[in-house]
Amino acid sequence: MIVVVGSYNVDFLIKVRDFPSEGETVFSDGVYIDHGGKGSNQAVSASRLGGNVRLISAVGNDEFGKRAIKFWEDERLDVAYVKIKNALTGSAYIVFDRRGRNFIVVNRGANALLSEDDLDGCLNGDILLTQLEVNENVVKKALKEFPGVKVLNPAPAVLNDNSLLEYVDILTPNEIEFKELTGTQDLNYGIDLLLKKVKRAVIVTLGERGAYIGTRERRILIPTLAVDAIDTTGAGDVFNASLAVYLEKGYSLERAVRISNIISAYSTTRIGALGPRLSEVSELIEKE
Ligand code: ADP
Repeated sequence: MIVVVGSYNVDFLIKVRDFPSEGETVFSDGVYIDHGGKGSNQAVSASRLGGNVRLISAVGNDEFGKRAIKFWEDERLDVAYVKIKNALTGSAYIVFDRRGRNFIVVNRGANALLSEDDLDGCLNGDILLTQLEVNENVVKKALKEFPGVKVLNPAPAVLNDNSLLEYVDILTPNEIEFKELTGTQDLNYGIDLLLKKVKRAVIVTLGERGAYIGTRERRILIPTLAVDAIDTTGAGDVFNASLAVYLEKGYSLERAVRISNIISAYSTTRIGALGPRLSEVSELIEKE
């Protein structure tokens, strides 16, 4: 069982030709409403790859919360521990222009109300996958008490209490998060710093260059597939989801990363943050 502790947001994607200036009003070229939030994205992507996934997340007592739970049930997640809070469901307002630049405002809503008590009774399983879009004390408690392998995707890379890293087996920052956490772009130096706390490995995802694995014994760059990427949003979420699925299957870290590179590269050839179903990628990963 993979247990995901994380966020849910309704994403409002608002397309404009040009951003309005201060005080100006513009008409949009379209609004799209989608499911988002790193916790939900990673949980659903893991389930699509065949993982057995329990999601621990909070939604509001509104229509968006009901819609989210229905979505997760359709995606075959265990939603028994999803909490309904007396608040609005979390939401993200993503305004993007014709050049693809964006502004994002997030209302944390119910995500901010997920509490340590909400974890009671549900911290059992093989792999914990969590991020930093819910309260840090909740993430810390989950990492501290979960009995299996613990993966932290440190996104966004805002950490008030670094001691939380002592409970992490595998840390998976992207390049930006890596720089924010370590203050350096030097992979080996930064990984040395992180491994003072992180127990087993740091995996830095490097976009089209693949992923770099750092343990106390070795460092290795695993290249990814060369693809015609059309939408890299959520590539990291798919990578983390896949990593959890293949670690749960008992694959070595290196093999799990090789497969996760392929699956997340494939996901960039499609629009949307959610990953592919196993049937779409089974041929691609057959030889790995
Ligand atoms: P994030 O989405 O968090 O910024 P990355 O950009 O590092 O994370 O992407 C995660 C993984 O997705 C990479 O390790 C890589 O395997 C794959 N990936 C991302 N962008 C591309 C790309 N342009 N071409 C091929 N693979 C990609």
